[in-house]
Amino acid sequence: MKKKKSEVLAIVEELKRLYPDALCSLRYGKDYELLFSVRLAAQCTDERVNQITPALFARFPTLESLANADVAEVEEYIRSTGFFRAKARDIVAASRMLLDEYGGKVPGTMEELLRLPGVGRKTANLILGDIYHTPGVVVADTHCIRISGRLGLTDGTKDPAKVETQLRAVLPPEESNNFCHRMVLHGRAVCMARKPDCQNCTLRPWCSYFSDSKA
Ligand code: SF4
Repeated sequence: MKKKKSEVLAIVEELKRLYPDALCSLRYGKDYELLFSVRLAAQCTDERVNQITPALFARFPTLESLANADVAEVEEYIRSTGFFRAKARDIVAASRMLLDEYGGKVPGTMEELLRLPGVGRKTANLILGDIYHTPGVVVADTHCIRISGRLGLTDGTKDPAKVETQLRAVLPPEESNNFCHRMVLHGRAVCMARKPDCQNCTLRPWCSYFSDSKA
């Protein structure tokens, strides 16, 4: 059953209370460092990425140095994140494109971001939300997809593009980006993939999964 607006807002508010900071868990200094950290986080944990990026960005401290880097050397710094050959190739190629076509800046539109090597909608949305604070941004990562489905904010689809559309239709635009960060935090702390800890979850009053499990 479709959620009432009052229920959606109650979920948004409760998540805010639970996770007031709603920060991205990837650590970064410069905008392009966030872009590349998100690329490195594919099929890897944010924690692991945070362990290896200080050394990577110390060895290559500017976009120019990354653009001119030997891909094989970049691979050595990022090896433990998995798929390191493709990731290293993308980071060096994206650095070149940022310098050659975007004046050395991470661009602020979906179309421009999607042209960058290794950047898909999830990464582009994260940049639009965290760097440009664009309203209505939805980062449909695995936690967001799972918990939104359980809560009944979506129809349960696992398709990130559909989750993005369905969440955008119900969430207040100015809240959507932070809502997604809070979904990640809730997914790690309470609503885990294998066994959600419903007994200790304060979202129970509005959760379809919980109410269905009681039926
Ligand atoms: Fe997840 Fe259970 Fe909380 Fe619903 S009540 S959000 S399923 S932990």
